[in-house]
Amino acid sequence: MSHTLSTLAYLVSSVLFILALKGLSHPSTSRRGNLMGMIGMAIAILATLATPGMRAGGIGLIIAGLAIGGGIGAVIANRIQMTSLPQLVAAFHSLVGLAAVFVAAAALYAPQSFGIGTPGNIHGQSLVEMSLGLAIGAITFSGSVIAFAKLDGRMSGAPILFKGQHLLNAALGVLLLVLIGIFVATGGPTGLFWLIAILSFALGFLLIIPIGGADMPVVVSMLNSYSGWAAAGIGFTIGNLLLIVTGALVGASGAILSYIMCKGMNRSILNVLLGGFGAEAGGAAAAGGPAQPARPVKSGSPEDAAYIMKNAGKVIIVPGYGMAVAQAQQVVREMADLLKKEGATVEYAIHPVAGRMPGHMNVLLAEANVPYDDVHELEEINPEFAEADVAYVIGANDVTNPAAKTDKTSPIYGMPILDVDRAKTVFFVKRGMSSGYAGVENELFFRDNTMMLFGDAKKVTQQIVQALQK
Ligand code: NDP
Repeated sequence: MSHTLSTLAYLVSSVLFILALKGLSHPSTSRRGNLMGMIGMAIAILATLATPGMRAGGIGLIIAGLAIGGGIGAVIANRIQMTSLPQLVAAFHSLVGLAAVFVAAAALYAPQSFGIGTPGNIHGQSLVEMSLGLAIGAITFSGSVIAFAKLDGRMSGAPILFKGQHLLNAALGVLLLVLIGIFVATGGPTGLFWLIAILSFALGFLLIIPIGGADMPVVVSMLNSYSGWAAAGIGFTIGNLLLIVTGALVGASGAILSYIMCKGMNRSILNVLLGGFGAEAGGAAAAGGPAQPARPVKSGSPEDAAYIMKNAGKVIIVPGYGMAVAQAQQVVREMADLLKKEGATVEYAIHPVAGRMPGHMNVLLAEANVPYDDVHELEEINPEFAEADVAYVIGANDVTNPAAKTDKTSPIYGMPILDVDRAKTVFFVKRGMSSGYAGVENELFFRDNTMMLFGDAKKVTQQIVQALQK
């Protein structure tokens, strides 16, 4: 394949990736979007294999890499539980970061293979791109490993804070920039390359350990963005157009998503970019705080709930992480269909960070064929709770917690919440009294208009469905 043809193939892939992103912006077009992305990637791989000057050994290595990586990926994708996707995404981001570090090292040790000079005599511009790609890649790697450990419960989700943390991070950031400057000015010595790598690994680690509680969603999308920029930087180093375009698409879309999530959670984007935007040292009644004395709550049976909902004019369903754990989305839709038959209006309220990944609830509801028109975002639905007879909160907790409005020391303070307590009756379907991801007790459990429905989300909803059918 000539250079012109492979550039053309890369262009087609780039357009398909853009169409993929466009498709992924709505559940109804997301399958088509995914397909576009897959076709784009297939074209990109074929064009790379057909690159002029590619030796048989090189092709063999690429195919072996694809088989091993693709095989492992296929096994993981088949086995993974929907609820573990966020940590899987974090783990995958770490691999993108590590790949950027390895490619930067390859370009440093064998620059002639990439046409960027000879060892010890690499073009200045390539040294800039290589060191930036290296630093961002290394930060992405260690940051994503910490995000993975926190999301997977292998490490406490609580913020790890110490005095002078921000100062240390800022000093490390400035030191890295200075070292990158020296690295470029001195022709790219290998010792300095690895020093930049080690300090960047440390910075990634330090940026993510103070993040806790409810702020993890923004971190995941921010690391997604970083991984894109790392890939784009490396694309410049090795002169690969498609890597530049793809990296920029991932970097930009991740940055936009981070911005949307920040807005959704009322956090400042600058704080996110600089890291450590969680609770301040010494504050935060996060997970593991002092045990609260037991207080009485009102609990009811699924039959009680069915009776109240049968007589309701308007029901708003608020899904959260527990619905995903229980895989209750299908039976929730069955319940909604029955209530509609009884003449009730049924709507779904989606908080931007409900569940454990952006769009988590939208995906589950789409899987259960819930009509898109019934699904509403936070700003849209909040005024409607005051007119609702019932808010059916299924496995959601933090996203309804009024501490976000009232308690300045709370790790979720400032996050907008779904105002479920304005409904005449609030049902909380959950297994016990445990707190949500942020580790904060929910005051609403003790309110007069709340009825706890204790049990697994799927089982409780199934029992309500049975009671409604009687
Ligand atoms: P929460 O984590 O606040 O609460 C989930 C609740 O579900 C728990 O209180 C739990 O209570 C209950 N639950 C768990 N399993 C079941 C089950 N099988 N049946 C019934 N209930 C169950 O979830 P929310 O969706 O309200 O909030 C999301 C939280 O996760 C926010 O703090 C957000 O910041 C964070 N987060 C979000 C990400 C995102 O991108 N969306 C990514 C990472 C974190 P019990 O144990 O008593 O049953």
